[in-house]
Amino acid sequence: MRIVRTTKELQQQANQWRSNGLTIGLVPTMGFFHEGHLSLMREARRQCDRVITTLFVNPMQFGPNEDLDSYPRSFERDQQMAEGEGVDLLFCPDPSEMYGEQFQTKISLDKVSQGLCGADRPGHFDGVATVVTKLFNLAKPHKAVFGQKDFQQLALIRQLVADLNFDIEIIGHPIVREEDGLAMSSRNKYLDANERKIAVCLSQAIGQAKKMLADAGGSLPAQEIITMAESMIEQHPECSVEYVSIVHQSTLRPMEIADGESVLAMAMKVNNKVRLIDNSPLC
Ligand code: AMP
Repeated sequence: MRIVRTTKELQQQANQWRSNGLTIGLVPTMGFFHEGHLSLMREARRQCDRVITTLFVNPMQFGPNEDLDSYPRSFERDQQMAEGEGVDLLFCPDPSEMYGEQFQTKISLDKVSQGLCGADRPGHFDGVATVVTKLFNLAKPHKAVFGQKDFQQLALIRQLVADLNFDIEIIGHPIVREEDGLAMSSRNKYLDANERKIAVCLSQAIGQAKKMLADAGGSLPAQEIITMAESMIEQHPECSVEYVSIVHQSTLRPMEIADGESVLAMAMKVNNKVRLIDNSPLC
């Protein structure tokens, strides 16, 4: 596996692969790999001749009071894990390589950035859209794989690709969960043993929501599910709701009536310190 730290070398390698007729699959990440990340790499490996994984904790997508400095990092372990999945190139630039002193461009999407995580994290999705645009221009992928765990991010990238005519197929990959149902996340590392145990309330709320919808014959007022999920989270004094929403799976618009096209999307903070998200279609 080749390790590349400069944008120029990445572009040169991508150009060479393309001129040899090879397809390129891209997996953008912030590192500290877990099975969720590896499943995306495997999917890219399955679908493409060459796999590029990027490992970049993107300062532009963190707010001033967020966890940029403490975000978990473990380069050597990540390197071995990516190599184990047959990744061909790991791109891990310094922030100064990605954002020179004169950097001044921002990609901003209107509607899809509103609400959900966009409401709690102003500017976050501008940072995501900007860095992903740069990665598309650098890695020149035919396909790019993103996790459904970051449901709003995936919708944003699909919109970005459509709006800016990127000739890239976006693949959404299912959420990989721990045995008890907790969605895998690099941020789970911040949880102590007690917090880890109660964090499962998000996925339990998803299970309960699916059951409520099935019992109601396939549709019911969204507020009933929202109230249930909020109380499942807030039964733990350590947990506070950031949002619980029922939105349409493709438009992300809030729905009054939950049905087979709905997604339950949630974010909570544990002990006001660790922010966790989860979501699931309710079909
Ligand atoms: P991150 O390193 O957290 O920015 O995530 C990099 C990519 O991995 C994103 O496309 C995420 O949606 C995806 N991802 C993170 N956690 C999971 C998971 N538990 N299952 C599937 N994909 C995930």
